[in-house]
Amino acid sequence: MADNRNEETTEKKSLNFIEFAVENDLKEGKNGGKVQTRFPPEPNGYLHIGHAKAICLDFGLAQEHNGICNLRFDDTNPVKEDVEYVDSIKEDIQWLGFEWGNIYYASDYFQHLWDFAVALIKKGKAYIDEQSAEEIAKQKGTPTQPGVDSPYRNRPIEESLALFEKMNAGEIEEGAMVLRAKIDMANANMHFRDPIIYRVIKHPHHRTGDTWKAYPMYDFAHGQSDYFEGVTHSLCTLEFEVHRPLYDYFIDELIDIPTLGGKENYRPRQIEFNRLNLTYTVMSKRKLLTLVKENLVNGWDDPRMPTICGFRRRGYSPEAIRNFINMIGYTKYEALNDISLLEAAVREDLNKRSTRVSAVLNPIKLIITNYPEGQVEVMEAINNPEDETAGSHPIEFSRELWMEREDFMEDAPKKFFRMTPGQEVRLKSAYIVKCTGCKKDENGEVVEVYCEYDPNTKSGMPESGRKVKGTLHWVSCAHSISAEVRLYDRLFKVENPGAEQDADFRELLNPDSLKVQKCYVEKYLKELPPLSYLQFQRIGYFNIDKDSTSEQLIFNRTVGLKDNWGKINTQNK
Ligand code: ATP
Ligand code: MG
Repeated sequence: MADNRNEETTEKKSLNFIEFAVENDLKEGKNGGKVQTRFPPEPNGYLHIGHAKAICLDFGLAQEHNGICNLRFDDTNPVKEDVEYVDSIKEDIQWLGFEWGNIYYASDYFQHLWDFAVALIKKGKAYIDEQSAEEIAKQKGTPTQPGVDSPYRNRPIEESLALFEKMNAGEIEEGAMVLRAKIDMANANMHFRDPIIYRVIKHPHHRTGDTWKAYPMYDFAHGQSDYFEGVTHSLCTLEFEVHRPLYDYFIDELIDIPTLGGKENYRPRQIEFNRLNLTYTVMSKRKLLTLVKENLVNGWDDPRMPTICGFRRRGYSPEAIRNFINMIGYTKYEALNDISLLEAAVREDLNKRSTRVSAVLNPIKLIITNYPEGQVEVMEAINNPEDETAGSHPIEFSRELWMEREDFMEDAPKKFFRMTPGQEVRLKSAYIVKCTGCKKDENGEVVEVYCEYDPNTKSGMPESGRKVKGTLHWVSCAHSISAEVRLYDRLFKVENPGAEQDADFRELLNPDSLKVQKCYVEKYLKELPPLSYLQFQRIGYFNIDKDSTSEQLIFNRTVGLKDNWGKINTQNK
């Protein structure tokens, strides 16, 4: 038999369809072998995990080809946009681990776009329509029926030019007139049926103030902004696929106008990929904003939110988010991604990264009756068994400990390997103890558990050959601190809240998505900075909330150790 142990395994990364397209463009020598991308958020909300998918692609693709990815704020609608969002977007991109080349604003191009619109009017390729939005919509026809020409379609060029000026001078009311591209009212692609390209908005812009009253529509700003910046690959989500012919149409028009920077040997290419949708949450900024405004969550960074800042506060690492996005990949088909896949990626990453500590969430007192009163031993708690370099920290051990109530059972079934009279268990990082009984109150509720320890079984001592099946965590009553834990669950109680067209999405919220309770934690936790990644041993991954202080420690449950949502993800069990 051939011995192929030494055979080299060259790991070849398979390209997704976008990387493949980019490689092909490079092979064909397009755009002088350059790759440039952009991430174009509208600053009307905080970034969510869906944006992270676009970010990983936009920035990742540029990195792979030694190109740059610019951050462009798509700020063409002053009504919804704000500087607060601009700042948060920058912070979130950096936290995810990416760096932009330049920061641009679509509003930087308002003059250029205006000049382009004027050029189109002069060419007879745009006109001012004085009909209402409803009338215009009615004339659009259907995909199978051609539209009807606006009565203003053939108005003189001079008239359109003059009215366009008036639109911007503040002399025209919002909605009273719009600028439309004059393309083809019978085109099978509805977006070609004389699309609206400028409208009046009389709301001050967060950057340009009152300079402009006429604002370009998305379709008239996005492709052109790409062009002005030198973007080679403009990656966006699938809903823009039907806009692509219009994107190309305006680019063709621009290429024709050298005074506006039109060049023959360069053109950006739009490629679409599927959105990220997650179960048990919503991804629409409008809905997320509603949750924030109506105080249904505690702000954009509420750890239940699917926002980047929410996940950060909850204790997800940027690596976990990036791994998840890599795992689900980029396709041409819309899908709903299972949130338990994201949680599995979080567990996998935090297993490598988190510091193991002890916390007792549902305490009952354990008394080691043969341990000397007043004695304290400092045990060594290993920080991370997955990472030797992580070292250890001290934890105090004494006669009275807190243990989890669920870890004791008076009449236990055979397979209960925890605390039950007559049985031995190991106390993590400490001794083997044998349970001797418990004390109950008048209602029969267990209030104290008793055990005896064997001084020859201290953790780290040579193996006594004695095997115990269970290892329990604990904290010393006299040496632990009382803290708050915030236990999070799914934000919505239905799998796909976005799909429930008839329901008010607020009514689909999971009423039990946040449970706040007290717990006892080891003192060491006082020394760790906010956002530290932790594993409460045997319970789950936690982190220190940003509201935590040394007087009042607060922890967020990032994710449980196992997937408890049953049916969903068998892989993880
Ligand atoms: P909304 O319509 O809710 O305001 P949006 O999709 O318009 O959200 P933008 O700020 O315009 O949000 O998005 C910036 C970029 O992020 C766009 O390229 C967009 O395609 C991409 N993006 C937004 N949501 C998702 C998602 N769920 N999955 C993948 N990419 C997304
Ligand atoms: Mg948008």
